[in-house]
Amino acid sequence: MTTWLCVLVQTPAHAALGPVLTYRSEQTLPLGTLVRVPLGKRETLGVVWEPAAADAEIDPDKVRDIAGVLEGIAPLGQAWQQLVGFAARYYQRSVGEVALAALPPQLRELSALQVQRRLQRKPTAPASRGDPQAAQMLSPEQTEVLEQIQTQAGPFLLFGATGSGKTEVYLHAVADLLASDPAAQALVMVPEINLTPQLESRFLARFAPLYGEQAVVSMHSGMTNPQRLKSWLAAHSGAARIVLGTRMAVFTSLPALRLIVVDEEHDPSYKSGEGARYSARDLAVYRGKLEHAKVILGSATPSLESWYQSRPADQGGRYLRLHMPSRIGSLAADSVAHAEGQTPSASTDQAARDAMRLRSGTPDGLPLVRRVDMNHQPRHAVFSLPLLDAIRERVARGEQCMVFLNRRGYSPVLHCADCGWKSECPHCSAFRVFHKIDRTLRCHHCGFTQRVPRACPTCGNIDIEPMGRGTEQLEEQLGELLADVRRPGTVSAENPQGEPLRIVRIDADSTRLKGALETQLAAVHAGDVDVLVGTQMIAKGHDFRRITLVAAVNPDGALFSSDFRAPERLFSLLMQAAGRSGRDAALGSSSEVWIQTFQPAHALYGALKAHDYPAFAEQQLLERKQAGMPPFSAQALVRAEARTQEAAQAFLNLARQAALEDMAQWPGWAPILEQVFVFPAVPMTMQRVANVERAQMLVESPSRAALQKFMAAWHDVLHATRADPACKGMIRWAVDVDPLAI
Ligand code: ADP
Ligand code: ZN
Ligand code: ZN
Repeated sequence: MTTWLCVLVQTPAHAALGPVLTYRSEQTLPLGTLVRVPLGKRETLGVVWEPAAADAEIDPDKVRDIAGVLEGIAPLGQAWQQLVGFAARYYQRSVGEVALAALPPQLRELSALQVQRRLQRKPTAPASRGDPQAAQMLSPEQTEVLEQIQTQAGPFLLFGATGSGKTEVYLHAVADLLASDPAAQALVMVPEINLTPQLESRFLARFAPLYGEQAVVSMHSGMTNPQRLKSWLAAHSGAARIVLGTRMAVFTSLPALRLIVVDEEHDPSYKSGEGARYSARDLAVYRGKLEHAKVILGSATPSLESWYQSRPADQGGRYLRLHMPSRIGSLAADSVAHAEGQTPSASTDQAARDAMRLRSGTPDGLPLVRRVDMNHQPRHAVFSLPLLDAIRERVARGEQCMVFLNRRGYSPVLHCADCGWKSECPHCSAFRVFHKIDRTLRCHHCGFTQRVPRACPTCGNIDIEPMGRGTEQLEEQLGELLADVRRPGTVSAENPQGEPLRIVRIDADSTRLKGALETQLAAVHAGDVDVLVGTQMIAKGHDFRRITLVAAVNPDGALFSSDFRAPERLFSLLMQAAGRSGRDAALGSSSEVWIQTFQPAHALYGALKAHDYPAFAEQQLLERKQAGMPPFSAQALVRAEARTQEAAQAFLNLARQAALEDMAQWPGWAPILEQVFVFPAVPMTMQRVANVERAQMLVESPSRAALQKFMAAWHDVLHATRADPACKGMIRWAVDVDPLAI
């Protein structure tokens, strides 16, 4: 019997072709079925999406036959379809784009036959890895939190200090779930690919012995397409019980999803920067509601949005806040030793531990935060004297230090003092960064790279100088300043000189080659490194055991940024960095975080010193409330790219005018427009990248619903505006709902 199917295919966001196309099939197929369909001259992957239109509306001569069904793959579930539909509507993209982007790329490329073969491959036998890694004995805080998770509906905001054992809570919550329901699946997300291997090994050690290796699969963009397809099929078929991944994993088809964990939920990486600019964290919460799965958002420094959502229920809060203020202390560390069958050594002796705790003077094992007032240091000093002394002292004791600065390269600008020349990028509104290592000037925005000129390109002066500093310079200066220090234990009768300190730099440049990051991290873990220099890359997540001093060399910039989220990001970065310090209680010396600042009295650093995120959040929320900023308003950005700045702004301002004048005439729209504020177009902070001019326009409303309604209707207006002659030179435009950077 011939039936009509509405099929979703990948179409560009603003394609005139509707997102759903009609095809003919000789059999009825359930919604969500994966099919291959002809599209133009090629054949492509499609998803049977909506019930077909009535016969009368279809012109049989124009409708083509589907090419085949991907046999053996169950249709995508209704909840998945709803998730994708919601994401498309909310983030203003076509459903086809969102749905097809959410499926593993290889599914699009393979023919129906190839998929068949892949499915028929025998799964590898469950490899036994011996006994499950002993579950930790939970701390009282962990026990309390887990009880809440078991008995309450959530969503939960697990607000736990770094090292308070949040990951252990996730492991337990997943273990309880899998044990109680033989089909249930869990999704655990982390913000960065770099953090997945660590997580994977913890989950595998715990769950592979119980459920087999293939019960745990990963899903992130660092995987090859065949690997991704394999993980996806395992998740979709229900064979995988646990999916670990980055933001893209939020779209994984999981027929029995019961638990979603979003670790480091504050991390901006959860927001996609292209296509549908979705927030995986927000979609996780939505998905949890849709599928009756519990959602745990975890962080030591929650996003202000989530923090605000977790205010008491009687004040309107919708998340349940769970608090774990203490680092896993020495008592718990003893129980690890017991659980792993080791005898506590003399160094883990309880009395010694108590003494250590007394000495450290900070409660709960959190590091002591020290502010160095740079106003009282020699001008242009990169490292203050007290910080240098502290580093010397630590390394002499065989401890590690970490120094970070959020700028890679040697210096952000080269300049000529004679004529004022600066190393501008000819293609961007930015300076090219001086990389001393290969003597290049590199644009970090468009990649344009040249050798450093011998002399000033405009006046010939041979004395062109670096201005400002990056991690390469830090590494070099530290090497010079600490040249006289020897590695402890290396000075002997045979080697009276001893060995120099080992200083290693980790940033996007040092880790460009595949495997480089792993090698460098392994060297840190093995104790082969005394001082680690790097960008925020090293401040996040890594479980460095022997680092007892962390220093932020120049963090002040974010205090005066025009981006209202900059303080939030700085606070969380510094707290994260602090979390790298003193993770091993057995090391015995008190750990410290050093902040070099010209603003030692700034409230942000005060809250940091007190390890008081709630105080920081309260002050920030107050400011946001007064200024009507998120979470007290909802925002969307329209970005335009064009050959000229005029064209980009003309496009935006014409669309704005249409909103203010034409839409206001639409029946019933006045009350909505009254709640929506459309700002005039402005050039973006990075106005030009790779010779493309960029402008943006902010739309704001105290009501999310009004903003959504407006944006949905305005989309067609934007689309039509593009054709206006004033917009000649426009290249593309895109909407960013809930933008993170403005
Ligand atoms: P977080 O995710 O909050 O930073 P983790 O879960 O990684 O913290 O825990 C920090 C360290 O403490 C890890 O090495 C972990 O193995 C250990 N740990 C966590 N919970 C316990 C516990 N109940 N007993 C002993 N050690 C624990
Ligand atoms: Zn010059
Ligand atoms: Zn450039």
